[in-house]
Amino acid sequence: MNSDGVAIPAAARALRAAPRVVVATGAGMSQDSGIPTFRDAARGLWARYDPEELATEAAFRRHPARVFGWYAWRRRLVHAATPHAGYHALVALEGLVPELAIVTQNVDGLHTRVGSRRVLELHGSLERFSCLDARHPFPAERAPEPAADTECEPPRCEQCGSPVRPDVVWFGEMLPERVTAEAWALAASCRAMLVVGTSGLVQPAAQLPLIAREAGATVIEVNPDPTELSDAAHIVCRGRAGAVLPALVAALTQGATQ
Ligand code: NAD
Repeated sequence: MNSDGVAIPAAARALRAAPRVVVATGAGMSQDSGIPTFRDAARGLWARYDPEELATEAAFRRHPARVFGWYAWRRRLVHAATPHAGYHALVALEGLVPELAIVTQNVDGLHTRVGSRRVLELHGSLERFSCLDARHPFPAERAPEPAADTECEPPRCEQCGSPVRPDVVWFGEMLPERVTAEAWALAASCRAMLVVGTSGLVQPAAQLPLIAREAGATVIEVNPDPTELSDAAHIVCRGRAGAVLPALVAALTQGATQ
């Protein structure tokens, strides 16, 4: 289903009928708040690097100041960003369905900032730090925040001297065990899954909509462009998260689904 005139009421009906809803979000969810997706994240100083080569342990070991500086730049963008109307729509949606959980691949913390209550961060957070070798936690307030877009030497762990890294999941790393188990169980037991702003290229997160579909849930995609997951979606709302999600919630609240 591709026409939004039809897709949004259909999606609202599916959400209304679902005792449990899971919202799976990716980098596109934050695009309307001015936070670049991974594909766009290599700008300015970082334009000459492939983001997938900055987000690995090997890259950090080779070029710690470059990788730490890239994350500091991304953190500054996040701090300057204002969560868009779609974020607030998801907070409202929580009050309109019996149970809702957000499973996000994003590391920007915007869902929690606007007040969504159940947020599972599959890929960690830009706001937390730990050391490279032992993963000892490192206090965020002691992490350097360069004012300019520049490389930045990471601090050293206060317990073991290993360099401090952002507490995010890099390419090739395992996802956090407890959060992943919870996300997978939610996907297998929800009746509707909203998939917002993800290309479906990053594994294993890309499996979540397929697990939900397999278990009988209605899968709804919100994305301006076709993705790897579009064929698995029962309902496709072609559009931006900042516009489609508020429209979806309006359709639910106004009973436009009858
Ligand atoms: P991706 O960059 O691979 O894909 C982004 C998707 O968002 C694309 O399908 C694109 O069509 C869609 N999109 C673009 N603008 C949109 C909008 N306004 N509304 C809705 N959709 C829109 O993102 P991914 O699938 O999340 O995978 C990339 C990886 O990089 C993930 O691990 C992610 O956590 C990480 N990442 C996170 C952030 C963040 O925390 N904000 C930013 C960049 C990358």
